Amino acid sequence: MKALVVGGGLGGLLTAAQLVRKGHRVEIFERLPVIGGRFINLDYKGYQLTTGALHMIPHGNKGPLASMLRQVGADVNIVPSSPTGVIRIPDNGGYNEIPFYDFSSPLSWFNKLKLSYLTLKSRFVKPVDGSFKDWFYPFIKDPWLVKLADAFCGWALSMRSDEVPANETLAIIENMHRYGGPGVPIGGCSAIIDALEQVILSGAGSIHTNRRVDRILTVDGGAVGVESGGDTILGDMVISDIGHSETAQLYDHPGTDEFMKYMTTLESVRSSAGIKICLGADGPLIGHSGVLFTPYAERVNGINEVTNVDPSLAPQGKHLVMSHQAIQSDDIHSEIELGLKDLEEIFKGKEYEVLMVQTYRDGWPVNRAGSGSYTSNTTPIRRLYIVGDGAKGKGGIEVEGIALGVENTIALLNV
Ligand SMILES: Cc1cc2nc3c(=O)[nH]c(=O)nc-3n(C[C@H](O)[C@H](O)[C@H](O)COP(=O)(O)OP(=O)(O)OC[C@H]3O[C@@H](n4cnc5c(N)ncnc54)[C@H](O)[C@@H]3O)c2cc1C
Repeated sequence: MKALVVGGGLGGLLTAAQLVRKGHRVEIFERLPVIGGRFINLDYKGYQLTTGALHMIPHGNKGPLASMLRQVGADVNIVPSSPTGVIRIPDNGGYNEIPFYDFSSPLSWFNKLKLSYLTLKSRFVKPVDGSFKDWFYPFIKDPWLVKLADAFCGWALSMRSDEVPANETLAIIENMHRYGGPGVPIGGCSAIIDALEQVILSGAGSIHTNRRVDRILTVDGGAVGVESGGDTILGDMVISDIGHSETAQLYDHPGTDEFMKYMTTLESVRSSAGIKICLGADGPLIGHSGVLFTPYAERVNGINEVTNVDPSLAPQGKHLVMSHQAIQSDDIHSEIELGLKDLEEIFKGKEYEVLMVQTYRDGWPVNRAGSGSYTSNTTPIRRLYIVGDGAKGKGGIEVEGIALGVENTIALLNV
């Protein structure tokens, strides 16, 4: 079998590595001069900034991504964050930090009881309709819980708690219990991309950079190849890593009812947008490798300092600190200003330099399909599949969702 992969991001590379491992031929086409998409290091003044991700694997070395990397023989060391996370809360006119798993401690005992009841109930009474906020707020009208839910969803999904479906957030929480907290890959995001590239090239895989796929060719409702730079390349299946809507722009639309229904469903899929602010500092600003959640900040949802695990991600003796915030309005400049103001307040009295501010939206978003909005890896075109963060598996945060989607796709291919 020969598979053609459109896009050399993490989703495309993971799928290619799985197929190569099973003895199939794979050709990857990437429009940029480099592979890895939103998951590679960007060297800036010796700091390893990135094209997207915050150098964090949501479930560390125990989650779906780590398992898949081991399965395909990609050699990556993911070090668990310790602690998992802390939450910054007001205390006596200043701020204090509590461990992430003690998040319910500021609630009254009655609200704690109600939260336990809700959690138990939703385990057995499914499905749960509405947003995550709709799930708890009618019963527990505590502003603390809203702020925390928004900080968590903002950091992990770049969405507010009233935008993520309750079912998806509950599945994510269940996975946090199952797999555990985050971890940092030694060498950052690029370590994972480089390891996958090695696996692919050591088997029957080839990678073409600077090769945009212009068309996906179909015959009788099935994918048969791609067109790139005037060349026609034929294959037994096409795997696209660029999302459902973007992929649908590349082939002739069949006029079937199934296809029209598919396109209507895609209209409701929204990408998630965010801003990342990268800071460099002479000393640690956070001092650990977990996430600092900031529910009381105006915009910033959370911050990490990966150099506490891997000092090589910054020049010798320095620290790399990255904050993330979901975008809440169209006024990007004021969103950035509010984020920078938050950081000034959070790190008051500490020395740091702002290295870079990066905005992710439209064609280069945080997630192509916001969490819980669309999970299918199939399309109305036979032998055309979608992987990547446009089709994440249920309950999978970020790259964990990508790995779950790839696992599902490989199962569907039945190869
Ligand atoms: C600010 C930010 C912070 C994040 N933090 C984290 C984090 O800490 N942990 C985490 O797990 N996830 C994080 N993520 C999410 C994660 O980075 C993405 O979900 C993941 O990298 C997406 O991979 P992908 O393969 O789906 O898509 P992409 O990386 O976008 O790859 C798709 C590739 O397809 C190429 N392409 C597009 N069109 C064509 C075409 N026609 N022909 C050929 N090639 C084409 C693109 O150039 C691109 O390289 C973050 C994302 C952002 C933006």
